[in-house]
Amino acid sequence: MIEQTLSIIKPDAVERNLVETIKKKFSQEKLKILKSKKIQISKDEAAEFYKIHQTKPFYDRLCNYLSSGPIVVMVLEGENAIKENRRIMGSTNPKEAAEGTIRKLYGISIDKNSVHGSDSTDNAKQEINFFFKIN
Ligand code: UDP
Ligand code: MG
Repeated sequence: MIEQTLSIIKPDAVERNLVETIKKKFSQEKLKILKSKKIQISKDEAAEFYKIHQTKPFYDRLCNYLSSGPIVVMVLEGENAIKENRRIMGSTNPKEAAEGTIRKLYGISIDKNSVHGSDSTDNAKQEINFFFKIN
């Protein structure tokens, strides 16, 4: 099934000029970049985006981090895009990520793991809407 999913290139990767490298990887893996914009969000916006994690011990750090510098938000489209993006990203902890995945190649730590990807159909819809809502 052709799906759309939300991808974020996080501050650590933007800062290291990895945007084009990561975009090329998505394209090579047959995920089309339908929309892309470079933005910086406030801590409140990060808190809203990550509210699913609000009870977690790492929540405050995560929100500070996502709002700490420019990010690139993208809508990716392709066959099984949600699952495919998660596969291309690799495990949350770069140390556990499979060879060749974005997090294995470029992730610094479990906090600074270079990319975000929606994890379900509902969350993909919600997250795309969060960043690309047409007013
Ligand atoms: N995170 C963290 N410490 C943890 C678990 C997660 O800093 O112990 C951060 C990490 O940046 C991760 C984000 O919180 O990407 C969201 O966590 P989730 O479990 O949803 O991982 P993801 O879906 O990004 O793989
Ligand atoms: Mg997640």
